[in-house]
Amino acid sequence: MAAKVISGTEVAAQIREELKKEVAEMKEKHGVVPGLVTILVGKNPASVSYVTGKQKTAHELGFYSMQDDQPEDIPEADLLKLVDKYNKDPKIHGILVQLPLPKHINEKKVLSAIDPDKDVDCFHPVNVGRLMIGGSEARFLPCTPAGIQELIVRSGFETSGAEVVVVGRSNIVGKPIANMMLQKGRGANATVTVVHTGTKNLEAHCRRADILIVAAGVPHLVKPEWIKPGACVIDVGVNRVGEKMSEKTGRMVPILKGDVDFDAAKEIAGAITPVPGGVGPMTITMLMKNTVTSAKLAAGIR
Ligand code: NAP
Repeated sequence: MAAKVISGTEVAAQIREELKKEVAEMKEKHGVVPGLVTILVGKNPASVSYVTGKQKTAHELGFYSMQDDQPEDIPEADLLKLVDKYNKDPKIHGILVQLPLPKHINEKKVLSAIDPDKDVDCFHPVNVGRLMIGGSEARFLPCTPAGIQELIVRSGFETSGAEVVVVGRSNIVGKPIANMMLQKGRGANATVTVVHTGTKNLEAHCRRADILIVAAGVPHLVKPEWIKPGACVIDVGVNRVGEKMSEKTGRMVPILKGDVDFDAAKEIAGAITPVPGGVGPMTITMLMKNTVTSAKLAAGIR
């Protein structure tokens, strides 16, 4: 039987509706409006498109949101001052500095300058530490891993006691999702294995997985025969493998492939995310959720 396709587009739309209601209620009952600033340095087309998407979503949800564009050659000290200005601005609950930053700027220094209580990307070492401790200690969850976890939970897969295998150990996906899945609590309590380029038998580990999360950035790395029948497969990979003409717009658009061969894998898996339309739409949505959480915490709303 073909796998259930977990649509990130649908789940993200559902969560955005929930957030919209929550924001309206916060405004009405408490006079609080979640505030998000996105800081963009330079004009990298991919970064421009990412921040535009974030701003559009923030507006749709009823946030106070602003886009702060800075020139490519902004001195590091000036960018740090700008971050500090937003750290002190009570209308702003979330600060997002779009990465990558130009080479003359130390990314770690800038991310560490963000007030951890406004770090809605959850990249600040304090928040990474809080995530590791888990439970109520973790204020924000990093956006892509939070999106992955939400997709698993909302698709009805039991995580408690499940064998979870994570392919990849990056700081933005692999390590945090592995850490989240092993915590006690909702959507977690799993037995987690993390595999990477140093792993001896990748296939054998993948075959054990009740839930297989793949974030390697290698098109079709995971072969269908590596998948346990009935498993839940979350494909985080987004790989540009060429271009094609869009029938809708007549413009050239990238051809995207996941890290899993979707067509073959869906005949074996129990549930699987597509690429595109799987994890991707969840990431921005979880950023919005973090900003709402931050505004609530700042205002003492439970
Ligand atoms: P990354 O920083 O390049 O990390 C990739 C990880 O995969 C590394 O840990 C690497 O192992 C491991 N890996 C690579 N090739 C492997 C192989 N052949 N066998 C085993 N492990 C292998 O990438 P990332 O930032 O985590 O992103 C991963 C993918 O997810 C990319 O396609 C990216 O575009 C996508 N992504 C999507 C979203 C979204 O919102 N949809 C968000 C973030 C990322 P080593 O550590 O040993 O090198």
